[in-house]
Amino acid sequence: MAQKFRKIAVLTSGGDAPGMSAAVRAVTRAALAKGVEVMGVKGGYRGLLYDELVPLTSLDVSNKIFLSGTFLYSDRCDKFKEEEGMQKAIETLKKHEIDGVIAIGGDGTFRGATDLSIRGIPTIGVPGTIDNDITATDNTIGFNTAMQTVVENVDRLRDTCESHARCNIVEVMGRGAGDITINTAIATGAVDCVIPECPFDEDACVEKIIRLRRAGKRSFLIIVSEAFPELGEALKKRIDSTTKALAIEEDDDRLWVETKFCRMAHIVRGGTPTLGDRVLATKMGAYAVDLLLDGKSDLIVIEKNGEITSADIRYTQVLDRMYKGTLKEGMLDNYSADQIAAMEAEIAIKKEQFAKTYAMFQMLSE
Ligand code: ADP
Repeated sequence: MAQKFRKIAVLTSGGDAPGMSAAVRAVTRAALAKGVEVMGVKGGYRGLLYDELVPLTSLDVSNKIFLSGTFLYSDRCDKFKEEEGMQKAIETLKKHEIDGVIAIGGDGTFRGATDLSIRGIPTIGVPGTIDNDITATDNTIGFNTAMQTVVENVDRLRDTCESHARCNIVEVMGRGAGDITINTAIATGAVDCVIPECPFDEDACVEKIIRLRRAGKRSFLIIVSEAFPELGEALKKRIDSTTKALAIEEDDDRLWVETKFCRMAHIVRGGTPTLGDRVLATKMGAYAVDLLLDGKSDLIVIEKNGEITSADIRYTQVLDRMYKGTLKEGMLDNYSADQIAAMEAEIAIKKEQFAKTYAMFQMLSE
């Protein structure tokens, strides 16, 4: 141990994700096993501002591994982003003699973690977000459960689409990354999907539906990422009106593919974590404690090619921005040409995988 840790704090922040409770349990039990006390912060960073910390014993985290949501609660706290709020948070941590923090959440949560570490509080981030939009890690806690929830619900929509020969357009979460969309499109046998990573050919989509309807297909599902908030309803109207006009033109009612739109919204955030998310949360939570007690800070835990390891928080944030095309002036200034090339290569690999998967999906949707 590079520094003597006596007490650490754990919190869940930002958008909640199934498996966050399992991660808190793992952090708590791993720390206690190493002789370190644990305080749970209620309601994310806001709990630091209002001194809402509770001691966590092994029994406190018993019967929590399967819980949905987060039993520590989560919140978005803008005051924490301001210096005054940040100082209050630091005061609370000092008052409770907290030697380090483990913050479970998404990219916003990690920015908060960096701010704490800059002010001398060692902090480790654990990726808990259903979107899987942390580019540096192959998987985030909650992603697997969210996909399972989408599949279970879309399967139900298919039942009724098949009965009525309808189309249903389903918008799912994942603003900056199409991971939930493409995987659930594959798993539900959707006829098309719309993701930020690949261009969408709307004309070809409508033509495909007409062609398949003529061939006798009855149920049509299209999964759309929330990155395109207007697209789902507009596409619904277009498919509905185009096929209706065709039915009139050809005097064949059967060509009308009545189309509905469904926004899954926060339903996708709920539910009992899958086995995969429980195991991932457990491994990541325990590893975060190892990193912290090893004197590390400003890192996030990641899973890369099946291995649990870590990455620099700031590097992962730049990588995310590069992936989403939201880099700002000067953000690459602290990185060498080799590091930038490595980031570009990592992103190119991920985008290439998306392109391949999308092409395969399109082939099988005919
Ligand atoms: P997520 O962690 O799921 O991406 P948010 O982006 O809402 O969710 O961030 C969660 C919280 O992290 C915010 O409410 C805020 O308290 C903190 N946070 C976000 N961005 C920053 C920042 N730039 N500096 C400090 N704290 C931040």
